[in-house]
Amino acid sequence: PPAPELKTENSAVTVAVRVRPFSLREKGENSHRVIFMDSQETVVQHPDTKQTYTFSFDYSFCSLDEMDPHFASQQMIYENLAKPLLERAFEGFNTCLFAYGQTGSGKSYTMMGFGEEAGVIPRFCEELFLRLSRADNQEVTCHLEMSYFEVYNEKIHDLLVVKDEQNQKKMPLRVREHPVDGPYVEDLSTTIELFLFSPVSSQTWLELGNKQRATAATGMNDKSSRSHSVFTLVMTQTKTELVEGEEHDHRIISRINLVDLAGSERCATAQTSGERLREGASINKSLLTLGKVISALSEQAQSRRKVFIPYRESILTWLLKESLGGNSKTAMIATLSPAASNVDESLSTLRYAQQAR
Ligand code: ADP
Repeated sequence: PPAPELKTENSAVTVAVRVRPFSLREKGENSHRVIFMDSQETVVQHPDTKQTYTFSFDYSFCSLDEMDPHFASQQMIYENLAKPLLERAFEGFNTCLFAYGQTGSGKSYTMMGFGEEAGVIPRFCEELFLRLSRADNQEVTCHLEMSYFEVYNEKIHDLLVVKDEQNQKKMPLRVREHPVDGPYVEDLSTTIELFLFSPVSSQTWLELGNKQRATAATGMNDKSSRSHSVFTLVMTQTKTELVEGEEHDHRIISRINLVDLAGSERCATAQTSGERLREGASINKSLLTLGKVISALSEQAQSRRKVFIPYRESILTWLLKESLGGNSKTAMIATLSPAASNVDESLSTLRYAQQAR
């Protein structure tokens, strides 16, 4: 078969931040607001030192107060950050969107949401399926595969395979490297072809996957999510073209990765020991490596010279290698609590996001 089409483009990363409303707990503590946003800028007023920190991003989304004329809704996040990736995917680019931030700052809300407040992933699926079902173009056929897995403690678990009761401790899946297509997860399940697909069925799969995400109690937060979850769509467009009277199939393959990262809080702040500490260490290793990879990629894009990219230093970055490099588009959304009580975590999140640009 003919080789899939490759496209290259300057791969600067789009970086957004989003501040959520006060939680009940923060309200109860009378914690005041320290994060302010003005068009692209995010300003932090440190409650203790009284110092002001200013950061500039592609987008600073304020979702703190619905009555605010600049309030950023789920729909706005989708339109600005995710929809452009959908367009790029149709053009043949690989894409990644990451949500980064401390536990409880709104990563899952942003990526998954719930009910009418649907997040990026269900909106993305809905629009993709709609566009594919409308495409009555005879010359292009489309094939779609979906997978959903988590990286937990540098190990991979399929989220679309139901854990049966006797087999709770499933073996983690292995990463292999294909000489042409790059790293992949061996034996990962993929559902299903286009015609079985609808927003409803993808929702069912997502719910199954979400139920299976590994969560464990920590000193910080009972539902603290300690794994990275990776939702992947692989879209293959096949065009039949007539070249000098002969029919040729021309394939364009695009991978779309929508990633909800593990909580970014430094493990020093949680009461961690033993197994937990190891988890914390490898979660941080993945986050650290991702930061290094993304900043190396933007340095490379800006300087237009080759820079060493340390993909191999963590499972997550190794697996996403083909979706982070030259033929790809990457976006990150860093999520923040508005409250004084979280200011130090918020500053560390903002610094991480800053170095990605
Ligand atoms: P994380 O995934 O970062 O641990 P969650 O997405 O679970 O955090 O958010 C923590 C809580 O805050 C949830 O109850 C969630 O519904 C709420 N929340 C987060 N972001 C928003 C937002 N932008 N608007 C309204 N509620 C939000």
